[in-house]
Amino acid sequence: MTIIADQPQATKAEPGQVGGPLLATVRQALAETGARQAVIDEAVLAVASGQVHQAAATAVKEQGTHAVRPFFDCLDLVINHIVTGAPLTAAREAAEALAATPPAQAGHHPWCLPERCIPHRYDDGAVLTEHLGPAYTTELADGHEALRLRAELGSDENLLDYKASVFVWAGDNDGLSFDQDGLGRAIDNLDTFLDGLRHLHRVMGQPRAPKTEGQA
Ligand SMILES: [Zn+2]
Repeated sequence: MTIIADQPQATKAEPGQVGGPLLATVRQALAETGARQAVIDEAVLAVASGQVHQAAATAVKEQGTHAVRPFFDCLDLVINHIVTGAPLTAAREAAEALAATPPAQAGHHPWCLPERCIPHRYDDGAVLTEHLGPAYTTELADGHEALRLRAELGSDENLLDYKASVFVWAGDNDGLSFDQDGLGRAIDNLDTFLDGLRHLHRVMGQPRAPKTEGQA
């Protein structure tokens, strides 16, 4: 007679189980050690948070130049420190590089592209400069028509208000000028619009249901 030793039961995620096999394994393994439920819950939450981070970091890295990429790179270094004990020097240097503002040339903003700034000389000898910074453009094109969007940062010493503005143009229309609060609201509106576009993109492949005989 062959005696089959008890096989350790492989942890399986039930269909539809939130978190998948890894969380099921953590739950079961800790339960087997007699850990308190609060400890199990905390461990499961930590692993789930890590899974969310991994998904977000992967999505950001796939986009290559996403603006939050350096932030996620820093988080990777901190996670590596927690897991392996590797010194945090690299993470601190990366964070300092993130926070560092480049020095401004005299009379310019740190964000100025001084070779593009335009000094205007007046009869009384005064020089008032129109400052120009980075600009971003994109084009929405369907193969027939194209809508070109452009945003540019600038400030003008001719204006009493020393604050910078972001100018946004759509095609050949007159541009819009945003102060910092106004641009924040515009970004929120565009975010909502982009979420809507993503929804339309997700559902646009759904075919029409066949008509009933009565409709045909
Ligand atoms: Zn300037």
